[in-house]
Amino acid sequence: MSDNDAIQPVSNEQWLERLTAERERLVGLRASIIDEHEPHDDREHNGTITTIDSHHADRGAATYELELETSMLHRFDDEIKRVDEAVAKLEAGTFGLCERCGEPIRDERMDFEPAARYCITHQAEMTG
Ligand SMILES: [Zn+2]
Repeated sequence: MSDNDAIQPVSNEQWLERLTAERERLVGLRASIIDEHEPHDDREHNGTITTIDSHHADRGAATYELELETSMLHRFDDEIKRVDEAVAKLEAGTFGLCERCGEPIRDERMDFEPAARYCITHQAEMTG
């Protein structure tokens, strides 16, 4: 096993740690988007009621923000799903292999993107 170090510099456990950390980061970012747009009206429970309706004055901007928020949430959902898939692949023993050709994805790239699904050739093909 020890002479495989050059091919596989990190263990599955380490990848799992990285993926778990990545997932937590994504979930945190996703939550912060929702949090930012939630009305924080806790203070109003103290008695002083402010006119919340004034927040809806600019409906155009609100719609735009909502669309932006939704598309960002979808992006994070996708990325979280990819991390989950990568964890499943770790368990299946296919982690780090291109989904198109089955060749190992180069480690340097995995370092930037642990949930990468394709080798550099097929990644370029998929993203156009
Ligand atoms: Zn490939």
